[in-house]
Amino acid sequence: MKTSVAIIGAGPAGLSLALLLHQAGIPCLILERHSRAYVESRVRAGLLEQNTVDLFTELGVAGRLRREGLEHFGVILSFEGERLRIPFDELTGGRHITIYGQQEVVKDLVAACLERQIEIRFEAKAWELHRIETEAPYIQYIQDGTRKSLACDFIAACDGFHGIGRKFLPPGSYIDYQTSYPFSWLGILAETAPSSEELIYTFHEEGFALHSLRSDAISRFYLQVDNTEKLEDWDDSRIWESLEKRLFTPGFKLQTGRILEKSITPVRSYMTGTMQSGRLFLAGDAAHIVPPTGGKGLNLAVADIRWLAKAMIAFYKSGDEQKLRSYSQDCLRRIWRVQDFSHFMTQLFHRIGERESLEYRLQRSKFDYLKISRAYQTSLAENYVGLKEI
Ligand SMILES: Cc1cc2nc3c(=O)[nH]c(=O)nc-3n(C[C@H](O)[C@H](O)[C@H](O)COP(=O)(O)OP(=O)(O)OC[C@H]3O[C@@H](n4cnc5c(N)ncnc54)[C@H](O)[C@@H]3O)c2cc1C
Repeated sequence: MKTSVAIIGAGPAGLSLALLLHQAGIPCLILERHSRAYVESRVRAGLLEQNTVDLFTELGVAGRLRREGLEHFGVILSFEGERLRIPFDELTGGRHITIYGQQEVVKDLVAACLERQIEIRFEAKAWELHRIETEAPYIQYIQDGTRKSLACDFIAACDGFHGIGRKFLPPGSYIDYQTSYPFSWLGILAETAPSSEELIYTFHEEGFALHSLRSDAISRFYLQVDNTEKLEDWDDSRIWESLEKRLFTPGFKLQTGRILEKSITPVRSYMTGTMQSGRLFLAGDAAHIVPPTGGKGLNLAVADIRWLAKAMIAFYKSGDEQKLRSYSQDCLRRIWRVQDFSHFMTQLFHRIGERESLEYRLQRSKFDYLKISRAYQTSLAENYVGLKEI
């Protein structure tokens, strides 16, 4: 079995790459360890930068996203009950974000792949990568209990943080950078109308809270919790009480409802200093994880794919290998920027130290500066909506 580009993972990164390659007439095939139903129902990100929406539009897969996605032109920041709105459109020349759940993105991308006859092998788990330093690499994978091989020109490991791609970068060929934080995010999806038209990021002395949404009838909330806490520690009433307390400001009324989904996710930063070796290329969470506070994980994955597709298309169309060689460098400029922004948002809103600690005073000072400085607000806004180019 042979294809030109073997893609591991049917997440936003792998699916976008397949569609871009297909558009350029380059054969590819996706191996995905889970079932279609599983990947299409995994609740994760929901904030799309304009660059991401633009790419989906170029790919002709943004029809439902344009109809059902909610465009947001601002975000509300709150510090101990005091609120500040950051108007993206005014500060960034009309740029904005779109709220549309990652599982909906994945459904749209999977449907487009299958409609365009791009093969996705579900429940096919990549197991080992071979000969990545040659022009004829191959993947061994397991499907229906049988070990099979897929030969190719290139392997694109779009297989997320727990995938296998990164493990096949030669040991010692890259530096990895990481930080873990002493807290996690408890996320819920609730059957309730949003209590605010825009996202609210809140610092509260008990910890961070985020009010987000997915549609006019579904809201998404996050709470900072300790790393030792378990879902069993958080029954529904405790979750709603904490949200009520942390998001409180005079005049604000929290709408509650049935909780449809709950999860706890650790907050971490991780990245590889090199995203390639020979004919193996990493993209998305396979190469980097950012704290979710900036809403960047999915967007960064798609930004990597723009570079990777461009490099592969240049190779197949004209034999030009320059963009393949510079792939990591091209991606890393944005990745570092996003790491910094996500760290900034995390440090600004989470409870890090005691009240009156140095950390708390620095957080307070940042928020006070945001209130009076259009320049500081502009910096936050342009990073939040996503830099057009970097
Ligand atoms: C619980 C959770 C909540 C999140 N919330 C947010 C958020 O609110 N905002 C935000 O911006 N980001 C969030 N993220 C991050 C965001 O979802 C990711 O950045 C995004 O999914 C990255 O896309 P990807 O395609 O690189 O990886 P993934 O979406 O992880 O896709 C990788 C795919 O590879 C498959 N795979 C893995 N190993 C193999 C193998 N050996 N063989 C075959 N297939 C394999 C996996 O099954 C998966 O389908 C969240 C992540 C998690 C886990």
